[in-house]
Amino acid sequence: MKKIVVFILAVCSVLITSAQTKPKIIILATGGTIAGTGAAADRAGYTAGKLNVDDLLSSIPAAKKIADISGEQIASVGSQDMSIEIWKKLAVRINDIFKNKEADAVVITHGTDTQEETAYFLDLTINYPNPVVLTGSMRPATAISADGPKNLYDAITVAANPKSAGRGVLVSFNEGIFDSRDVTKISTTKVNAFASPNTGPIGQVYDGKVEYYSVSLREVSPASPVKIDNNTKLPRVEIVYMYADAPADYIDYLVSKKVDGIVIAGVGNGNFNKAFMDAVKRAVAAGVVVCRSTRCPSGRVVLEDEINDKELGTIVSDDLNPQKARVLLMLALSKTRKQKELQDIFFKF
Ligand code: ASP
Repeated sequence: MKKIVVFILAVCSVLITSAQTKPKIIILATGGTIAGTGAAADRAGYTAGKLNVDDLLSSIPAAKKIADISGEQIASVGSQDMSIEIWKKLAVRINDIFKNKEADAVVITHGTDTQEETAYFLDLTINYPNPVVLTGSMRPATAISADGPKNLYDAITVAANPKSAGRGVLVSFNEGIFDSRDVTKISTTKVNAFASPNTGPIGQVYDGKVEYYSVSLREVSPASPVKIDNNTKLPRVEIVYMYADAPADYIDYLVSKKVDGIVIAGVGNGNFNKAFMDAVKRAVAAGVVVCRSTRCPSGRVVLEDEINDKELGTIVSDDLNPQKARVLLMLALSKTRKQKELQDIFFKF
C-alpha cells in the first residue's frame, strides 16, 4: 500500500517537472563490456572498460533529443571486479544527485556479470523515487551488431519516462525492463542475457516508447533498511554452494573467520545434507546468521517446510537468489541480528 502511494506521488511530481523541460539525466559509467573494445569486428573477446562515458554517448546522438545528458566515470571495471566500495560510491553519488536536484534520473552503465547485485543494492539504499536504470551489453563496442548503443539508448528512454519513477531501481536490457529484485543474468554470451524467472519483465521499451505491465509490491527505498555513506562498514556475508556429497568445511572455515552471515545456495527448497546441517548448527551457535536460499533458478524457499527453521535458528531468502540474499542480509545485519526481525525484512523487501 505504502509503495503504491509513493509510486503515485512520484509519478505526479515527475510529470509536473518533465512537462516543463526535457529531463536531465546523468550517466554514471562503471565499465563492463558496454565500454569494452575487441581486436576485430568478428571477435567477441574484448578488454572491458576501455571506452569512457563520452565515447558511449557519441554512438547514440539521437539520445540528445530525449534528455539533457551528462556523464561521470565512477569506475572502469569488468563487473566481475565490482566491489562494495564502488557500490557505496554509487549510492552516495546518486542520493546526492537527487538531493541537490542535479538531475531527474540516473542511468548506470555496468558489466552484466554482477549487474543484478548492484541494481538490488542500490534499490535498497537510494532514498529518492526518481528513475535509476542500469544497462550494459553482451558484445563489445567493436563487435558486429554491438548491443551496447541500443541498450544505452533504451535505458535513457526508460529513465526519461515519468512512468519509471517510484518503481525502485530498474534494469533495461534487450528491450525488457526488469525489477532489480527479480532480475538475474541467464546467459553467458547471448544478447538476451537477463530474465526475471519468478515474475517476468515489468515492462518493455521499443522504438522510443515505454510500456509497463506490472509493479512489484515489495518495498523499495525510502523504506530502505539502511542509509549508506562513505564510512559505512557493511557486515561480512558469504555464500556457500550445496551439491551432492558436499563437505561442510567451508562453513566451519567461515565461522572461524568470524563472518556475520552465511547464505547457503541450497538444493531444491533450500535444502542441505547432514554435514551442512551439523555445520549450520555450529555456525548459529557461534552467532553467525544463516539464510537458506536455493541454487534453483526459480521458485522460493519456504519457511518451516522441509527444514525446521525455528529450531535450527535459520532464516529463508524467500524468492531471492543467493547473491541477492547476500546483499539484503548485509544491509539487514546493519540493523538487527534477531532471527524474527531479519526474517520479516526478507518478507518485506
Ligand atoms: N565480464 C563482463 C562484465 O560483467 C561481462 C559483460 O559486461 O557483459 O563486466
